[in-house]
Amino acid sequence: MKCPYCGADDDKVVDSRSMADGLSIRRRRECNNCGRRFTTYEHIEEIRLRVIKRNQNREDFDRKKVAMSIRIACQKRPVSEEQIQELATRIEGKLHQMADREIPSSVIGEEVMRELRDIDQVAYVRFASVYRDFKTVNQFFAELSDLMKQGEAGVLPKPHPDI
Ligand SMILES: [Zn+2]
Repeated sequence: MKCPYCGADDDKVVDSRSMADGLSIRRRRECNNCGRRFTTYEHIEEIRLRVIKRNQNREDFDRKKVAMSIRIACQKRPVSEEQIQELATRIEGKLHQMADREIPSSVIGEEVMRELRDIDQVAYVRFASVYRDFKTVNQFFAELSDLMKQGEAGVLPKPHPDI
């Protein structure tokens, strides 16, 4: 741990105790370089959200994946990267407020659609038309990526040629 006074990365822990909440530990440290003392706190990592996929597998919620799906739907639309990031953050916040720590991917998809509808109609329709048919976010990514690679810029993506 870097000393906040002299910047040396050389210290010893002189005292360590559990806080009253039982969720954190306070450590008193002494810099071996300048002899000054400072305090660090250790917390349990925030409890992670889990996503229940359509095949019932679970995976950690990944805000970046949500942002990616929104970004794909917003290609060539007047939606800034900042808006996309804000939207993904807002959705993550909503999910954290839900009672369950495990959230079906369909719920996340519905949230994305609800938010996109207010931002850009075309992006919303792109997302909804693909998402509603394919249900899982991963399938949606794959499908929409293919469509975009083919230069499909229309409002309604055409069905995948292999399906
Ligand atoms: Zn120091």
